[in-house]
Amino acid sequence: MVEIEFRDVGKSFIDKQTGEPRAAVTNISLSIAKGEVVSLIGPSGCGKSTLLNMGSGLYAPTSGKVFVAGQEVTKPVREVAFMLQKDLLMQWRTIEDNVALGLEIAGVDKSERKRVANELLVKCHLRGFEKHYPYQLSGGMRQRAAIARTLAVDPQVMLLDEPFSALDAQTKMILQQDLAKMLYEKKKTALFITHDLVEGIALSDRLLVMSERPGTIIEEIVIDLPLRDNPLERRKLPEIGPLQGRLMDLLKIGKEEDAVLH
Ligand code: ADP
Ligand code: MG
Repeated sequence: MVEIEFRDVGKSFIDKQTGEPRAAVTNISLSIAKGEVVSLIGPSGCGKSTLLNMGSGLYAPTSGKVFVAGQEVTKPVREVAFMLQKDLLMQWRTIEDNVALGLEIAGVDKSERKRVANELLVKCHLRGFEKHYPYQLSGGMRQRAAIARTLAVDPQVMLLDEPFSALDAQTKMILQQDLAKMLYEKKKTALFITHDLVEGIALSDRLLVMSERPGTIIEEIVIDLPLRDNPLERRKLPEIGPLQGRLMDLLKIGKEEDAVLH
């Protein structure tokens, strides 16, 4: 079953200098099956976030259509969770209340919200921090709380825009492990943006590589490796190096001065 589909999608923004529309992404067609984890990799400004914004219903495509969870996306829907690089926790709510926010909006009663939030906080290694406020937590802990909040509404589809990019290397690997296990166990579908090539390889079934602006998909790489539920171990496989090399070549890393990932 296809769970995320882009049919020949393009998106233009008005260029501030010329006042004319200018393409950010063009000719995007992709299809992601239920339970699949796919990473988008490409140079800074190639339109990765723009694609996710269209998947979440925050931006409308200029041309083409986007379908998620069986329906054309015209507005944000509950089956789809969107997670950004910044944790965006509410400073005035406790961690538990932040995690329960989506459930509160959905009208779930208080005791059930508390139960779900606490179960997820344990899973995300935040037991004991339920009553703390975001400012009392480290960056890694806040990001874990944001993951718990995203999972609390039990979305079938997760759109993740560089969720770990602000974290140190070790914290990142631990969070990747937690996320990968949850995605795998709950058979969630995810479209994941990263500029970390090994992160993409470690977490995904497939990688989609994009060109510079106007971004389009230039290559699909199927990650035919075991251990998608265990990225810490997958990282140790000998195939990782050659795959990373192939991506570096595609992205011209080290070949052109201006080839910057972000
Ligand atoms: P990426 O996430 O790959 O770095 P983005 O999707 O954020 O790239 O941006 C792609 C291009 O579209 C960039 O040149 C950016 O400036 C432009 N862009 C993105 N969002 C908007 C917007 N709301 N208005 C105008 N231009 C935008
Ligand atoms: Mg971006």
